[in-house]
Amino acid sequence: MSSIIKILSDQVINKIAAGEVVERPSSVVKELVENSIDAGATEICIDIEQAGRRLIRITDNGCGMSKEDAQNAFLRHATSKITSDTDLEAIDTMGFRGEALSSIASVSQVRLTTAEQDAPSGVMIEIESGRILSILDAAAPQGTSLEISHLFYNTPARLKFLKSPATEFAHILTAVSRQAMAHRSVRFRLTHNKKTVLDLPPSLNIKERIFQLYGNEIAENVVEFENTRDVIRVHGAIGKPLYNRADRTHQDFIVNRRTVKNASLTHALYGAYGDLLMRDRHPVAFVFIDIAPELVDVNVHPAKAEVRFRNPSQIHDVVRDVIREVLRSQGTPRAGEVVTTGADSQGVREALSSYMQDLSHRSDGAPEGGPASYFGRRKRDIGMSPLHADYTASTPQGQPAELLPPVSANSDQDIFPFAQIHDSFIVAQSREGMVIVDQHAAHERVLFEKLQDQLQSGHIIVQNMLIPVLVELGPAQGALLIEYLPELDQLGFLVEDFGTGTFMIKAVPALLVGADYKKLLLDILDEVTVHGRSGKMEQLRDEVLSVLACHPAIKVHRHLEQREMETLLHDLAQCRMPHTCPHGRPTLIRFSMDEIKKMFKRL
Ligand code: ADP
Ligand code: MG
Repeated sequence: MSSIIKILSDQVINKIAAGEVVERPSSVVKELVENSIDAGATEICIDIEQAGRRLIRITDNGCGMSKEDAQNAFLRHATSKITSDTDLEAIDTMGFRGEALSSIASVSQVRLTTAEQDAPSGVMIEIESGRILSILDAAAPQGTSLEISHLFYNTPARLKFLKSPATEFAHILTAVSRQAMAHRSVRFRLTHNKKTVLDLPPSLNIKERIFQLYGNEIAENVVEFENTRDVIRVHGAIGKPLYNRADRTHQDFIVNRRTVKNASLTHALYGAYGDLLMRDRHPVAFVFIDIAPELVDVNVHPAKAEVRFRNPSQIHDVVRDVIREVLRSQGTPRAGEVVTTGADSQGVREALSSYMQDLSHRSDGAPEGGPASYFGRRKRDIGMSPLHADYTASTPQGQPAELLPPVSANSDQDIFPFAQIHDSFIVAQSREGMVIVDQHAAHERVLFEKLQDQLQSGHIIVQNMLIPVLVELGPAQGALLIEYLPELDQLGFLVEDFGTGTFMIKAVPALLVGADYKKLLLDILDEVTVHGRSGKMEQLRDEVLSVLACHPAIKVHRHLEQREMETLLHDLAQCRMPHTCPHGRPTLIRFSMDEIKKMFKRL
């Protein structure tokens, strides 16, 4: 039998590599910009025609190349950036694989013009399908210009995979924006069909770059930060606690100047925001991580889009903690800041009206009154504060008001309630001006954190039921509940299985006394079904806690006594994340005196 295995030619090898490295025009842009950065360029011009299909031209003022290097640059595995395998362990350049130019040249027509500093002349090289057509001396300023024409002209299959010019150009714009974010001291210019799209002078700080790239709305809604822990420097800018978006477009992780995708970093970011985010909402974050190059492996992806950390859990925790602290350090959100739509910023009035609408939807179907509704009692019945955490655990109904926790009107409390409007919102005076509090959201937050604290300290205060509540579930839900009984127990729910889908609730967390236990249990089951047992326990617990906190919380339409309002605001002030309810809705909106004066045209 004759042999059938053949060694592929360099040309075929390069085309195969191009398949990985050069997926679309934006990949070419990324690779060439990285080369310019490595060449020490301080100015990079990117000219695109027909979304990169006709032309991609990258011109830089970097170190340039000698004639010899210019020819070798297009050979496979030709690089000036590493010399041995040990260099791979501590890469501090953008490139190192020596694959980009050879791959790109194998699927396009290339013209390179380059000159080194003080060289008598520069050189111009033309290449087609990876073959050098001509090498000429050429007058050129110091730096390098690479023109890539007719990308994929010799790989029709690739060409077919390209999307519309608008989509391809959007990818290019994203690629350039990411590079510009990662390399702030470089001037970037991007043109498309001879029209300027971006012209970014070097910027001193991240906020300025964000403004240049993404406009005022995002720039105004981010906070800059910087922190070094355990030799890991984390800095950048993240969205304010209540600012979030409908997609993940504005999230960059930049590890040692390289923009990367990394699931663990993303997880850390969402972990830091925690319950500040509603479902399907995403934070804005430009997070830079600087660590010793030995601690990160960048050689794990052909397009260098991913990295692997030596110690991923340490990095994860540091990033999460640093971001969490930034969020916590942010003051109470202000009126104009309650912008969670992700679209254009809204005026206070619009924000409030959509918010009110949302509230009225939420209150639909929520059981009011009835024996289970502890908080549904009438005004005259309320002689104590149902808001105080330990009250329900330790006192029978009818306890006199004197036993209330002391909350004085003119103590050092920042916010003092004056009135309740429409049995739904508390209007309060703050040191700076006025605050409107959503009583339902605020109470949810208070309960949520109290439950969280009790759970963490391992002392959930429970209340035994005098008459156990019977719950009949179908077989499927019954089976699910049985599986979840130990966790429920930890949460303060003593639920016994009576077989054939019947359960008995014998004790509940004291904070929840008076809730509709049956409904509570079903809601928890829903939550478990959605997240599944495989989900992170910590997250699942928080989900369940937020379900719990929602149940006995003060309903929207309920009158509150002065004392109850005071206690609620006092308790809210003690919270770790006082500005949102566990579902991510704002608990309060602040108006400064200046803002109020402006509304009345006094400023
Ligand atoms: P890598 O960047 O991994 O080294 P490339 O194929 O992208 O591989 O580039 C090959 C070599 O060509 C680089 O190592 C560098 O020496 C040289 N080179 C490429 N682009 C430039 C540029 N814009 N300025 C100076 N040198 C360049
Ligand atoms: Mg390169």
